[in-house]
Amino acid sequence: MTQNLNGSCLCGGITYECEAEPVMQVACHCTDCQKQTGSSYSTIIGVPAESLTVHGTTKIFTHNGESGGEVRRNFCGDCGSPVFTEPDQSPGLLWIKTGTLDNPQAFTPQMHVWCQSRNVWLDLGDVPAFATMPH
Ligand SMILES: [Zn+2]
Ligand SMILES: [Zn+2]
Repeated sequence: MTQNLNGSCLCGGITYECEAEPVMQVACHCTDCQKQTGSSYSTIIGVPAESLTVHGTTKIFTHNGESGGEVRRNFCGDCGSPVFTEPDQSPGLLWIKTGTLDNPQAFTPQMHVWCQSRNVWLDLGDVPAFATMPH
């Protein structure tokens, strides 16, 4: 079943369309995601890069990720919503920030990663959890 992964930033200046099957669905608790989201962790869906059509121009913050390699974080320059991420670590994949989905319920985490820096009050339930990034 193909589910629609369309979404937008908070102000609507950036919208995107994607009809791909998610390649991977992850909750990332790394300190970079905490800083960027202003929250405890980020929830992301990896999709093939060519499947994501973006309308509007994102601003891009590039830095070195916790697992090495560059991470290009695409966000809305007007409202600040993080929209998607392109890590060198996963060539060919873009990672949609699931809070920007029109239907955020489309996200179901398959794993928690970078749990070495997770907030201790979080109950991760039965979802597999890894201290760093499994390979
Ligand atoms: Zn915006
Ligand atoms: Zn992260």
